[in-house]
Amino acid sequence: MSVVLAGLLFCPAAAVHGSGSGSLSIKVDQVGYPLDGPKIALVGAPAQTFEVRRASDSVAVFHGKLTPPAADANSGDQIEAADFSGLRQAGSYYLDVPGVGRSFAFVVGMNVFERTYYLAMRGFYGQRCGMAVDMGPEFPGYAHPACHQHGEFHASSGAKGPRDNIGGWHDAGDYGRYMVNSGVSTGTLLWAWEIFGPQLKNIQLQIPETGNGTPDILNEARWNLEWMLKMQDDDGGAWHKQASEQFPGFIAPEKDASPSEVMGTGAAPYKSTCATADLAAVGAIAARVYKPFDPQFAGRALEAARRAWAWTGKYPNVTFKNPPGVNTGEYADANCNDERLWAAAELWRTTGEAEYNTFFLHQYAEFLPSLDSPPVENWNAMAPMALRTYALSGRKGADAAAVRAIRERCLAAAHAIVERTRGNPYHVSLQAKDYVWGSNGIAAAYGMDLLIANELQPEPAFVDAARDNLHYLLGRNTFSLSWVTQVGENPFQHPHHRPSGSGQQGAPWPGLLSGGPNANRQDAVLAALPKDLPPAKVYADQLASYASNEICINWQASLVFLLAGQLR
Ligand SMILES: [Zn+2]
Repeated sequence: MSVVLAGLLFCPAAAVHGSGSGSLSIKVDQVGYPLDGPKIALVGAPAQTFEVRRASDSVAVFHGKLTPPAADANSGDQIEAADFSGLRQAGSYYLDVPGVGRSFAFVVGMNVFERTYYLAMRGFYGQRCGMAVDMGPEFPGYAHPACHQHGEFHASSGAKGPRDNIGGWHDAGDYGRYMVNSGVSTGTLLWAWEIFGPQLKNIQLQIPETGNGTPDILNEARWNLEWMLKMQDDDGGAWHKQASEQFPGFIAPEKDASPSEVMGTGAAPYKSTCATADLAAVGAIAARVYKPFDPQFAGRALEAARRAWAWTGKYPNVTFKNPPGVNTGEYADANCNDERLWAAAELWRTTGEAEYNTFFLHQYAEFLPSLDSPPVENWNAMAPMALRTYALSGRKGADAAAVRAIRERCLAAAHAIVERTRGNPYHVSLQAKDYVWGSNGIAAAYGMDLLIANELQPEPAFVDAARDNLHYLLGRNTFSLSWVTQVGENPFQHPHHRPSGSGQQGAPWPGLLSGGPNANRQDAVLAALPKDLPPAKVYADQLASYASNEICINWQASLVFLLAGQLR
């Protein structure tokens, strides 16, 4: 037995294989490629030719030559490209590269990303707080009883006593709920509906509300919206967060007995401007999105948005810091002007009222440079969404010069991203500076920016470059890893995610996007990696690497948007 084991351990072939049957040197989107689009795989070992073989019988259906190797500075890899765009037959395939091996499997087909969209959206359902969650017969054992049933006001909130506020999504690998990160996440999902609704409306997510007459993406978003609405005080302001004072250990959500505390700024007016403006923006989107399905809820959302907006006029920049003794997520933002701009733009888009338009037009020009590249942290930089929603609105009374300026800037940025993506050996939009905390979210955000540019002015190159970023996330990267749990033959396995880390399941909860490589190394696992690693390689598939392997609702939402844009 020990001889056999030693043989296996030292087999060189085993060393280059992942959990599936593929060589890590051959990089494919482990989900697949649309039938009518570009199809490119990458090879990170010396080779000249490749074949695409049918998975069912290994028959070669496409032969091609690899490009000469190109040096990728961000990973240090030498990369050749295998272009099999000419393959026009739907099916399951793998790449065979003589002298290197075979790739993980992938599908070529009409609507290859629908299941990944389904899993990524259900990832939000799995994050639901305050109710029993069960991922169903597809994923037996991925379930938990109702969690966090008791909430109360923290001293910093300016109020006392119980405040349960049951609901919302667990933010990330922890069980906190945070208004500003909820804002961008929920807003992004509602935008996905507004832009890609026809492709999404019939996709059932197998959640408790399925079949109630409202599309499931809106059912899921409402779970978090209802919690956001509960975070609004009588004066219109919104408290910043609801969480325990300290992060719990790696326990299941229902085992976390610490009270979920509503926290504020510690001094009057106790609510924060960024949280309140985000509530105004998201409430305004909800008012137009839910109107056909539940006018009463739409009206309630608009009323909350108006009151939140009015509060931010009284308190234009009340910022939040964690109160002393509190170490859970802070989401501190020193400047709430961009959140207010977003609120004004969404309220104007929904109501057409002059007050919001005037505010927007007075402010927008200074934010135009924010359209050039996705922000490093999309939860604290809302100006891009503010500007884009104005340009997308199509509303009568929009200022033509403002719309033109925003369009031109978005399109120029998109063209630059396309050029850079084409020139990158990995065909990803990320630059060296983008390999920071949540770099996978930045890749998804580049995709989102490109898809929105395509709404402003349709160009196939925008859609192709957006999908290139998705290919990167689903396996066409230096690790040949799918960064979405339980998706593809070689998905990452050890997210910093308490339900996964505390469970007995063989694999993590499904459909969740990893944060990705992070050259800033803000955890001990990354700090211990070799000092000379190029930025794209500073990643560890380990539970303890919260700075490279946590999941989080904001970049999950960008992933959903990117996937939604691929559906037919
Ligand atoms: Zn919970």
